[in-house]
Amino acid sequence: MDSVNATDTPPARRSRTGKAPQMKRLHGRGIVPGIVIAPVVLADEKPLPEIDRTATPGDIAEEYSRLDAAAEQSRRQIAKLRHKLESLPETGREEIDALLQVYERMLGRSRLLRGARTRIATGAMTAETAVLTESEALAALAGPHPAMTEEEQETAARRVGEFHEIARRLLRNLTGLSFRAFGNLPEGGILAVEQLRPADVALIAPTRFAAVLSESGGATDHAAIMLRALNIPAVTAVTGLTNGVQDGDLLIVDGTTGIVTVHPDETALAEAQEAMAAEARARRDIGRLRRLPAKLVDGEAVTLLANMELPAELPQIRQNGAQGIGLLRSEFLFQEAGALPDEEAQYAVYASIVAGMDGQPVTIRVLDWGSDKGVERLRELGYDLPEGGGGALGLRGLRLLLAHPQILETQFAAILRASLEGNVSVMLPMVTSVTEIQNCRDIYERVARRLRRRGVKLPAALPPLGIMVETPAAAATADMLVRHADFLSIGTNDLTMYTLAVDRGTSFQSELYSALHPGVLRLIATTVTAALRARRPISICGEFAADPRAAALLIGLGVRTLSMTPSAIPVVKRAIRGLSFEDCDALQHQALLMSDPLALRALLETAAPSGGIATRNG
Ligand code: PEP
Ligand code: MG
Repeated sequence: MDSVNATDTPPARRSRTGKAPQMKRLHGRGIVPGIVIAPVVLADEKPLPEIDRTATPGDIAEEYSRLDAAAEQSRRQIAKLRHKLESLPETGREEIDALLQVYERMLGRSRLLRGARTRIATGAMTAETAVLTESEALAALAGPHPAMTEEEQETAARRVGEFHEIARRLLRNLTGLSFRAFGNLPEGGILAVEQLRPADVALIAPTRFAAVLSESGGATDHAAIMLRALNIPAVTAVTGLTNGVQDGDLLIVDGTTGIVTVHPDETALAEAQEAMAAEARARRDIGRLRRLPAKLVDGEAVTLLANMELPAELPQIRQNGAQGIGLLRSEFLFQEAGALPDEEAQYAVYASIVAGMDGQPVTIRVLDWGSDKGVERLRELGYDLPEGGGGALGLRGLRLLLAHPQILETQFAAILRASLEGNVSVMLPMVTSVTEIQNCRDIYERVARRLRRRGVKLPAALPPLGIMVETPAAAATADMLVRHADFLSIGTNDLTMYTLAVDRGTSFQSELYSALHPGVLRLIATTVTAALRARRPISICGEFAADPRAAALLIGLGVRTLSMTPSAIPVVKRAIRGLSFEDCDALQHQALLMSDPLALRALLETAAPSGGIATRNG
């Protein structure tokens, strides 16, 4: 998205004293990176009038028909939004489309509307009070509570947001209050709102505004996810935004740091312009790199794959030039409330991802429910699980699946069927022993036989069944495991955590969490050597692979396949294209002798510049 050049922007507003207003900085949460200099455009929304909850309707039938009319009008509005979607870039469409489907369901024969009707009948409420009361009750039921994990709390908060959004739409339609429109605001400015709702994001044409700011909002709510999909530089949760700026004020927005500079002085403007020029250069470089191979200067090729967490990432994976998916974390499929996804539902998702990769490899990792999350969820669904038993050292990953093999069987069946759509491998998480692999392979082959009996034509050689090496036990016995696994992939995130006994999720002691610790490096080296000796494919799929400074070391150790978050691919590729095999080899010899991760980090810095990416693994 083009940002407005500072030289084209109006001069800074003068205060009544004739002096240029003081520069100030507001702080928020950077959601979409990008530096923008432009005047701000404030978009206010008329608040809903106070609903008089004590009012009683004269005629119940009349309230029913008002509610039906408001629901019908809301459905038409959502249909219009859907129509607008066609003009959005492909990256944004999928995310927003999914949300609009949720809204459509809520405006159909939903619990919300049925509940509101019951309240009108039994509580003799007006349609407004019924909608408000029912949506509040449902939001309270669905809302986050302290026993939930952070991720569950975020999902629950999003659900609450959906109830509020539909209630707000119904109430605006019931009271005849108009909606906020962005279509007549000046173009090229920085849109600033008190609150940005997902439906608002659907209304924003990504080329209309240079950036988007909101005073409230989180990093993972629907609106943030959609802003990311649209790739508009954005900062949410900007404290003091609506009181701190006036329409037309000149701003610098930094979507990475979340800093909003109001009335920037000459120095701040010059710095921002320089940063914008650097960003533009980096964008051009990345566009150019996408088409170039990841080759060492002496010509040897390295394969760069993407880690995928959500199907919506597919376009980004392609844009960044990934040569396949090295780690498809299938957990997203199991996050929906209610029953676990059945074979058909899983098959549909895997098949569309595999087909969408056009024959490029896709490695699907079976469910890696970690810590308490999965254990609690399964207990709710009536699975028999021992008390306690969760946590990072408890029933997680493969152990959980082997304790409940029917979950694994369903997932294997769905993956095997989807393998007919392209090039699939299957990966097992959190392996610690040969027996676990053997047990899984037995199940895998049994499921394949069952499918064939059902008439499903599977290839004679089943898709490769490989393992993640992410426990110290697996790394230390890699020479044994490799005889039972078709490929190995090192998960440095967990391997670092378990080796160093430092939690990967807490910032406390984060300086101790480093894949450059000799304990972790030796385990990586042992694993790679075992795989190379057994002539088995070996890759790295933890965060460490996304660190361009680590590329030389990993290549020196013998790794030729790295899987990472899609946006890191061009940066790692750039680093690889500047390396020679001799340099990488010399570096790994030196690195394995070093005891201090910080000193090793400094050494890697000299071997390859960071390319602007910082990871927690360093
Ligand atoms: C890892 O542990 O390095 C890994 C890639 O798996 P996850 O991050 O999904 O635990
Ligand atoms: Mg892991």
